Amino acid sequence: MGQLTGKTAIITGASRGIGKGIAEVFASEGAHVAFTYSSSEEAAKSLELELSKFGVKVKGYKSDAADFDQAQQLVADVLNDFGTLDILINNAGITKDNLLMRMSEADFDGVIEVNLKSVFNMTKAVQTSFLKQRKGAIVNMSSVVGVKGNAGQTNYAASKAGIIGFSKSVALELGSRNIRCNVIAPGFIETEMTAKLDENTVKEWRSGIPLKRGGTPKDIADACVFLSSDLSSYITGQVLHVNGGMLT
Ligand code: NAP
Repeated sequence: MGQLTGKTAIITGASRGIGKGIAEVFASEGAHVAFTYSSSEEAAKSLELELSKFGVKVKGYKSDAADFDQAQQLVADVLNDFGTLDILINNAGITKDNLLMRMSEADFDGVIEVNLKSVFNMTKAVQTSFLKQRKGAIVNMSSVVGVKGNAGQTNYAASKAGIIGFSKSVALELGSRNIRCNVIAPGFIETEMTAKLDENTVKEWRSGIPLKRGGTPKDIADACVFLSSDLSSYITGQVLHVNGGMLT
């Protein structure tokens, strides 16, 4: 029996990268998986096929996490298709890096909307059903950058730091209803998002990590299993740093 057997999870942004890794590990742990994507239709279809081999219910939804109404509609559709909802993983995220001097207002707003407002949208959307069942686990994806800051990423760092404050507040508001809300702050995880960086930067990152390697999507997925399963039933409002020992 898996750690998540019989539970239903929504994972945002699971067509690739960390979200895909979370969807794979969740299905292998027995969770029914509803996942979203923004444009990768084909990747979503092939993930549906891949995960259904675990004998769980799986469905991909094209839904913009930054859009309040689409988040409401998504949760209504998932409840309709799956019947129940136990876990929300807010993973969808983007970068639009630039030095502050060159950063446009659109690039600041865009990153805040996809990375931070999405967490508000999705948490609002699941709140009613979590409150009714007096149970629910929320895991929000922050970043080492939200804790330490990073030159060239003021927009991204602000969005990821915002997630931490938001999550700690949700943990305080909803704890009495047995709804838990925790944060994962990944370090350097090797995905398409980081493949955009130049090779020298990547080498520098790796050598600065005490465990001497970048993380994998599975490293993050395993932490998500812990924070969304009953293994962590007395843990809420926390930030779990999954970063190979980087100082934060
Ligand atoms: P990624 O490979 O770029 O994948 C991003 C995922 O989010 C894709 O599935 C994408 O869907 C989806 N997405 C983007 N915008 C969306 C929107 N508006 N609505 C719904 N889905 C959307 O990114 P990643 O590296 O796996 O990162 C995942 C999360 O971890 C992000 O929140 C990121 O900030 C965080 N993180 C990553 C690292 C790292 O080193 N990689 C470190 C710390 C934190 P499409 O395929 O359809 O575009």
